[in-house]
Amino acid sequence: MKIKLKIKQTLASSLKFSAITSMFCSTLISIDVMAKQPNIVFIMSDDHATNAISSYEGRLSSVFKTPNIDRLASQGVRFNGMYANNSICTPSRAAILTGQYSHTNGVKTLADTFDRKKDNVAKQLKAAGYQTAIVGKWHLKTEPSGFDYYNVLPNQGKYFEPKFKEIGKKWQNGRKGGEVYPGYVTDVTTDISMNWLDKRDQDKPFMLMIHHKAPHGLWQPAKRHQDLFSDVKIPEPASLYNRGKHGPTDAVIIDGKKGQQFGSSVSRRMEGRGLVTRMLSDSWPTGKLQLDSYDWNTVVSAAYQKYLKDYLRTIVAVDENVGRVLDYLDANGLTDNTIVIYTSDQGMMLGEHDYYDKRWIYEESIKMPFLARFPKGAAAGKTTNELFSNIDIAPTLLELAGVKTPTSMQGQSFLAALSDPEHAKGRDAVYYRYWLHMAHHTIPAHYGIRTKTHKLAFFYGLPLDANGAMPAATPPYWEMYDLANDPKEMTNIYPQQQYSKIKNQLKQQLIELKEQAGDTDEMYPELVTLKKAHWDQK
Ligand code: CA
Repeated sequence: MKIKLKIKQTLASSLKFSAITSMFCSTLISIDVMAKQPNIVFIMSDDHATNAISSYEGRLSSVFKTPNIDRLASQGVRFNGMYANNSICTPSRAAILTGQYSHTNGVKTLADTFDRKKDNVAKQLKAAGYQTAIVGKWHLKTEPSGFDYYNVLPNQGKYFEPKFKEIGKKWQNGRKGGEVYPGYVTDVTTDISMNWLDKRDQDKPFMLMIHHKAPHGLWQPAKRHQDLFSDVKIPEPASLYNRGKHGPTDAVIIDGKKGQQFGSSVSRRMEGRGLVTRMLSDSWPTGKLQLDSYDWNTVVSAAYQKYLKDYLRTIVAVDENVGRVLDYLDANGLTDNTIVIYTSDQGMMLGEHDYYDKRWIYEESIKMPFLARFPKGAAAGKTTNELFSNIDIAPTLLELAGVKTPTSMQGQSFLAALSDPEHAKGRDAVYYRYWLHMAHHTIPAHYGIRTKTHKLAFFYGLPLDANGAMPAATPPYWEMYDLANDPKEMTNIYPQQQYSKIKNQLKQQLIELKEQAGDTDEMYPELVTLKKAHWDQK
């Protein structure tokens, strides 16, 4: 009873807090149906686009089904507006754990190291009486902190015969160590997770994070799935052949240094070609791409089919293993007091605009799947189109456990949206920033804003102090999209005069969001100089 009251008090204080921010809940949530602090099962895959989850009813849903993940949608809430603040593995994972933007938690790029001494959601839950565990992909270099149990993959991990690094053994570093577990990584991750559930202290609530490696590339499906979709033609996105009309096409390097991995200029249209080049080599894990013709459209089409089939096959195992966990909860009487979340660290471009990675501010990249089954909630099968950021996840898990959000966390709880998704409000806009300038996929550094109706992005094109960024500049470039009329972001309306009013409003809103987030350009004199010259660019 004490815990129940504490949760109600926290909710009351949250309501007061929310009233002075952009988020508020219109109705009290029905958390009092739970007799004690709920258990939390947080399942996160890697690079899983909403287009590849059938309950999201995206463009692949006619040929690809995820029946077990869809159970969470039909029994819980589907979030259509959950966004990564920095769409790449390590930074998104750090943001989810800390409830902070990348510039605050210090993990702006893949090369940054997570500070394990700082606060995180697991530490907070542990202090509130939870048993905490994480199994699977970690990718944050330093030893996990705040977890009673961990058993994680070194670096990206392997699909077959993966090594896992278990708590109690010497950590060494993020890449080394571990013991081989026979089998397929998605199955093994679930096996280890369920073994931990079997052995846990049943008198305490728990938070278990199951972090799958799949469907991160390069894609290696389980043997039992390797022939799926052989006779299926995967639908193509309308923008697959749109290579010349999207992205900062004139991003010629203007300040490159000798010895870089690229030359004095670089085509922005390298993405599709890069994938094809790898697929045509003997090192492609599922076998070389076989082609009868090298006509470019034929090549793009064949590469797309191979990419999507490899990718989707790895998700079938994820879906099966989500089903195993849900069945375990049912069989062990845990379903009624456990919230189950399915998400991914970001989305993934599945051929849209001829891209196959993430990082870009475009919808398919920054949009995270987020499905939450709230025990005994009245919201089964409902959806919300409100905007939320991945920094809001930690405060939400904490409020669920009756823990007040620490002032160090920048996110805001969206707990109300779990039980009353049709009335609970989200953010007016989400802030996005990609720091890893020109590295790996030659994408210029950029920041921007996504409102309910528009997107504005400023490709400032400087490495600044980002670890791993390429020491070269690209020309400043703007993009703007009318998401209400152009949800696939096919037409950059930034240069069009009739949008100048909304353009200026978005720029002002972007400045305000940056200030609220504490992400000030004034730290970087070269960026301030560049902005002076280009902020008012038509
Ligand atoms: Ca990822």
